[in-house]
Amino acid sequence: MGDVIDTELLVLGGGPGGYTAAFRAADLGLSVTLVEARETLGGVCLNLGCIPSKALLHAARSLEDARALSELGIEFGEPRICLDKLRTWKEALVAKLSGGLAGLARRRKLRVVTGRGAFTGPNRLAVADGPTVNFKQAIVAVGSHPVRLPGLPEDPRIMDSSAALALKDVPGRLLVVGGGVIGMELATVYAALGARVTVVELTEGLLPGCDRDLVKPLEARVAGRYEAILTGTRVVSAQAREDGVHVIFEGASAAGPQVYDAVLVAVGRRPNGAGIGAERAGVQVDERGFIAVDARQRTNVPHIFAIGDVVGEPMLAHKAAYEGKVAAEVAAGRKAGNDAKVIPAVAYTDPEVAWVGLTETAARRDGVAYESASFPWAASGRALSLGRGEGLTKILVDPRTHALLGVGMVGPQAGDLIAEAALAIEMGAEPGDIALTIHPHPTLSETLAFAAEAYEGTLTELYLNGKKS
Ligand code: NAD
Repeated sequence: MGDVIDTELLVLGGGPGGYTAAFRAADLGLSVTLVEARETLGGVCLNLGCIPSKALLHAARSLEDARALSELGIEFGEPRICLDKLRTWKEALVAKLSGGLAGLARRRKLRVVTGRGAFTGPNRLAVADGPTVNFKQAIVAVGSHPVRLPGLPEDPRIMDSSAALALKDVPGRLLVVGGGVIGMELATVYAALGARVTVVELTEGLLPGCDRDLVKPLEARVAGRYEAILTGTRVVSAQAREDGVHVIFEGASAAGPQVYDAVLVAVGRRPNGAGIGAERAGVQVDERGFIAVDARQRTNVPHIFAIGDVVGEPMLAHKAAYEGKVAAEVAAGRKAGNDAKVIPAVAYTDPEVAWVGLTETAARRDGVAYESASFPWAASGRALSLGRGEGLTKILVDPRTHALLGVGMVGPQAGDLIAEAALAIEMGAEPGDIALTIHPHPTLSETLAFAAEAYEGTLTELYLNGKKS
């Protein structure tokens, strides 16, 4: 307390955006102070989000795969799940990665201050119960928090995603409020672990905003596995009683009053722009908590940058890390700018749904001209050998320039496969470039080449008679 730190660059927030910015700036020779409220680096993504959820999704997928092997004549019997061990494994993974980040920070001689920071002036930040930091430049990377549904009682059985990932127990009946990315990923985990899951989603379908043909295989799979999918429906009230959480629904597929052992609320995230004293630094924050930035990630105060969830949608770790590098490089005097053409998005459900660039939904909404071609995974030998022929790969093309505008995929590993599409769009590739790139056989990656061949009219894996699929 009472200590004063003088630093060239302050980074506020140690999530994927903040630590990437801090590391890059240190590598470029700046003296960097990183202020993070949590004891560990990595933010929500590493501690309470992407990484623990992917660890649990791996367990869920393994359980599903083991069950599916009975069709091939291989029986393991009913799984015995030791929740304590699964939780310990997940926590060890998180600890290993956050320990790794601490090591990387030490090697770069970064000063890491643990505590909640708030600006007290355009070049000063106070850390609660900690030092004052005088800075020449700053990068705000304070992330976002889950939206709370008004009217829901305070009760340990009503969880946000962080509480759900703590994996306290597996409820008998689980209600997931919100059929977006977080809701569907955690529904995948809990259903595989044995919970009877109901998803209630306000809009007409799961993963709103995503093309319906990509969501269909996911909807078909979960329809057979979950207790109910209530679309066009919302929760009107929930009461926590001794025998469970009593819920009343309203809407197109509203069921009568229901009792659940637990409720997970995943109805979106809000930026953390309010509450960091931004006004004392002169940084403008809008009424929702977002901070506007230019193409160099600068706020309205030129020596203060902002990156990640707090600057706008999509709230994705890989977008934050990219923006963090841009801000660090500009702060270090380099010529850098945010000129990413596309940002891939992935729902790590089973099957995975992934898209990058233009979607048909956005093209129709905005009147963007496009042509499309697709390849059904039912004709992919590799997909069928995995027992997963329900997938689809679809490309959208500019009819005038023939440039690839967007790609959507659904199927196992779609999240990994979409990276090739992101590179193709960044490189200005046309379907012909992808079609003439020899893809390894038999792999799921071929499905992108086959969709491109379908567009070019050169596909032999299906009989299209010269037509696009
Ligand atoms: P989301 O916006 O993706 O989904 C929220 C869903 O809740 C929407 O489908 C919405 O229609 C629905 N909803 C809203 N109010 C409702 C109500 N009262 N009743 C029923 N449904 C309601 O938000 P999320 O899933 O909470 O994710 C938050 C953010 O985190 C997103 O920006 C997302 O991109 C990001 N995220 C991404 C990943 C990933 O890329 N794999 C994973 C986790 C989170």
